[in-house]
Amino acid sequence: MTQSLFELEQNNAFIGRHIGPSEQEVADMLAVVGADSLDDLIKQTVPASILNDQPLGIGAPRTEQEALGYLKTLADQNKVFKSYIGMGYHDTHVPLVIQRNVLENPGWYTAYTPYQPEIAQGRLEALLNFQQMTQDLTGLPLASASLLDEATAAAEAMALARRVSKNKKANIFFIADDVHPQTIDVVSERAEHYGFDIKVAPAEAVVEHDVFGALFQYPSTTGQIRDLKALIAQVQSGKGIACVAADILSLVLLKAPGELGADVVLGNAQRFGVPMGYGGPHAAFFATRDEHKRSLPGRIIGVSKDTRGRPALRMAMQTREQHIRREKANSNICTAQVLLANMSSFYAVYHGPEGLKRIADRVHRLTDILALGLQSKGVALKHDTWFDTITVETADKDAILARAEAKGANLRSDLAGALGVSLSETTTRGDVAELFDIFLGEGHGLSVDSLDAKAAAGTASIPAGLVRDTAILEHEVFNSYHSETEMLRYIHKLEMKDLALNYGMISLGSCTMKLNATAEMVPVSWPEFARIHPFAPLSQTQGYQKMIGELESWLVKITGYDAICIQPNSGAQGEYAGLLAIKKYHESRGEGHRDICLIPSSAHGTNPASAQMANMKVVVVACDKRGNIDMVDLKAKAEEAGENLSCIMATYPSTHGVYEENIREVCEIVHGFGGQVYMDGANMNAQVGITSPGFIGSDVSHLNLHKTFAIPHGGGGPGMGPIGVKAHLAPFVAGHAVVKTDKESRNNGAVSAAPFGSASILPISWMYIAMLGDEGLKRSTQLAILNANYLMRSLAEDYPILYTGRNDRVAHECIVDIRPLKETSGISEMDVAKRLNDFGFHAPTMSFPVAGTLMIEPTESESKVEIDRFIHAMKQIRAEMRKVESGEWTLEDNPLVHAPHTQDDVMDSEWNRSYSRELAVFPSEDVRRSKFWPTVNRIDDVYGDRNLFCSCLPTEAYGE
Ligand SMILES: *Cc1c(COP(=O)(O)O)cnc(C)c1O
Repeated sequence: MTQSLFELEQNNAFIGRHIGPSEQEVADMLAVVGADSLDDLIKQTVPASILNDQPLGIGAPRTEQEALGYLKTLADQNKVFKSYIGMGYHDTHVPLVIQRNVLENPGWYTAYTPYQPEIAQGRLEALLNFQQMTQDLTGLPLASASLLDEATAAAEAMALARRVSKNKKANIFFIADDVHPQTIDVVSERAEHYGFDIKVAPAEAVVEHDVFGALFQYPSTTGQIRDLKALIAQVQSGKGIACVAADILSLVLLKAPGELGADVVLGNAQRFGVPMGYGGPHAAFFATRDEHKRSLPGRIIGVSKDTRGRPALRMAMQTREQHIRREKANSNICTAQVLLANMSSFYAVYHGPEGLKRIADRVHRLTDILALGLQSKGVALKHDTWFDTITVETADKDAILARAEAKGANLRSDLAGALGVSLSETTTRGDVAELFDIFLGEGHGLSVDSLDAKAAAGTASIPAGLVRDTAILEHEVFNSYHSETEMLRYIHKLEMKDLALNYGMISLGSCTMKLNATAEMVPVSWPEFARIHPFAPLSQTQGYQKMIGELESWLVKITGYDAICIQPNSGAQGEYAGLLAIKKYHESRGEGHRDICLIPSSAHGTNPASAQMANMKVVVVACDKRGNIDMVDLKAKAEEAGENLSCIMATYPSTHGVYEENIREVCEIVHGFGGQVYMDGANMNAQVGITSPGFIGSDVSHLNLHKTFAIPHGGGGPGMGPIGVKAHLAPFVAGHAVVKTDKESRNNGAVSAAPFGSASILPISWMYIAMLGDEGLKRSTQLAILNANYLMRSLAEDYPILYTGRNDRVAHECIVDIRPLKETSGISEMDVAKRLNDFGFHAPTMSFPVAGTLMIEPTESESKVEIDRFIHAMKQIRAEMRKVESGEWTLEDNPLVHAPHTQDDVMDSEWNRSYSRELAVFPSEDVRRSKFWPTVNRIDDVYGDRNLFCSCLPTEAYGE
């Protein structure tokens, strides 16, 4: 019988697109792992006590067209006004060659953090350009490769000041009162937990205080360009650290803060070609003096060399980072806006020094014209200096705002007795004429042309002593790619050096490198989501509010919590936000003394780093020899902490990739001593639809939307780390100083610069959930578990598997132990990782959570064909190890220790290795059909750290 129309219309196609294996492949894999069905596998794997049979209640899956169609109706409820709000966010023309070939290109957006530098030289180069651009514009010699946003970068500057200031007795961090309000909010919140005193006062008042550091804004939030030289010197004379938050475009014209003596310069790179996106994502920049390199937050890209002696890029000084230094880390920053830093650096490459100067000059000229025109009509301006922002003093705010609204324009309205106007790259002369109408009413008789003649004759709006007289962006890279053809090819050449998901599986454990579906990505570029200022009135952002509200209600169902706080911009920021909620909850009950945070030894490094930021004392709980939390030790440590127990941070399934049987008991023990349970949600891909943190008994979790909920990793960010909380913690989550929602928590301090974090990437997770629905979400979890168990079972023939749980099952990932094989062969986990590159694979997670191991997570999106290809490569690598074990190859001369192999290797005139060139680069048939070439040989980590070099190299350095 043929199908009815109704049956033909049942289109759950997206589930089948998102999930890699076909029905037949599922059946085949079930047979291999020895389970009758997916349900049977789950029953064998997940402790019965936490299995939840209730449907999620999200509803039926929607097709791509249905989901996009509905989301468009929400987007249409956002009003895209011209933004003159400023406050660190400006409209920008995203060069379309960058929009299409970077932002919208999976070759760029699906990559991971460049932990395997030999197959990541492209994005490492783009990030090095970002550092160079930062150095040039700030006038400081050392820059890092991007932070989460300007406000958190300022908080990191404060933490750096505390570490390096020689004024150890001072406890005050001074903030000039004309710093952006959201920055003051975030820094004050951070200071409270570090136990620092914050003093907010007029900049000049810094002389009255004994400070370990101070923060100024340049130009100020109301637009004034102040000569900071004397104030900086004043701070430094008391051994304080002078920090300056600067506007990146203004720095093209203004004297660099570094030249004024600043110790730290930071800011938002958004207006360099990244949409405002209702708050993000965009990258913050951060620069300091060379002597503070060991205190710098975030990553630094450094130039090292490979085994052929060629320059090669890598992330330098990893030992500063949280994954090694744990509670002694400089910051908890892990995921950090790499894609957006790359976009901004490409923007600088595309425009070059002259193009940027033209843009900055034009914005400044239009501002001069606006200011001169208003002044000629007797309008009072708050300052007599400006770059792109003026503050108009007026008794008539309401009338002006009403005219602005009628013309579809937003002014800055939060200043007493004044209105702010910030111009941007997108402002035209027509816009300035319209601004005259807005401020003066029609019939003012001003002409842009005649005002221009006056402005061109010269104004003092930039004080003579603060005009930049040093060159910027002199490096060749910023002076070579100014035609679109050249730019297109430069972007593509870099892309080709990197292994991203559009080439093959990236089995990084704990990172959940699943499909980032095109339909999920499309709405990110819609102007109704992209071109909205984060502080636009809520009445103009109704579409966003509805989309976020729906996403929150779905996440509530998925997590089993009662409320979601969407603000944190990464998982680690979510940890910080969640711990603050716990802390404030205890304080509200008169138990502010509870400050001990229990963390299992297997935890991700961000956990102890976040606990330290929340000023908690970390007590490590041991794991037993099966990798589970040692219950005896947990009870002992909890009891010892007693009435000082604040919480436990536990990851579930554990970072060892197993469902611990007694997770409920863990929660009960901690609750029994009055503590709270923070469940790190990075492994939610093994929970969605089958259990949930709330169901298990936890109080708060972050969700890595860039792991479980399909936001791409962008080469190391963006990400989103919203937290879910039980009702009792809801009043204690982050609020925001500028945007007040109707939530009970609205007056709390902020953890991010923008009220809804990186709002413009939330549609990705919205689409993901909408298109999978109850059925697809659950099936995704089941398939993630099946794929991992199939892979584990297949590899177990050749490799020791470190930990398994009940019935010898793993959760959604598994750890292969290379240590015993290193004993017998001398081959290390690093050699295996690099040899995988020769097969066209990205390595699994190396040496986390256990040194000497590889953690593999295939995700539900990989088909059996791809997983088999990976298994085959791993088996062949094991066979190669056996040849070293048997002595057929020496430990010094075999394809494992020389991996990865490059084109230069096979083109060498001499080849005197004990294996063939063919085996080196074509180790299997399918590699021959489609070869990924690492562009450098193995990189020397030690050399790179000893000879830290973090700027662009002269081009000759790459030549022979
Ligand atoms: C990825 C991860 C984090 C940190 O998340 P970011 O978004 O990178 O800050 C924390 N815990 C675990 C277990 C993780 O895997």
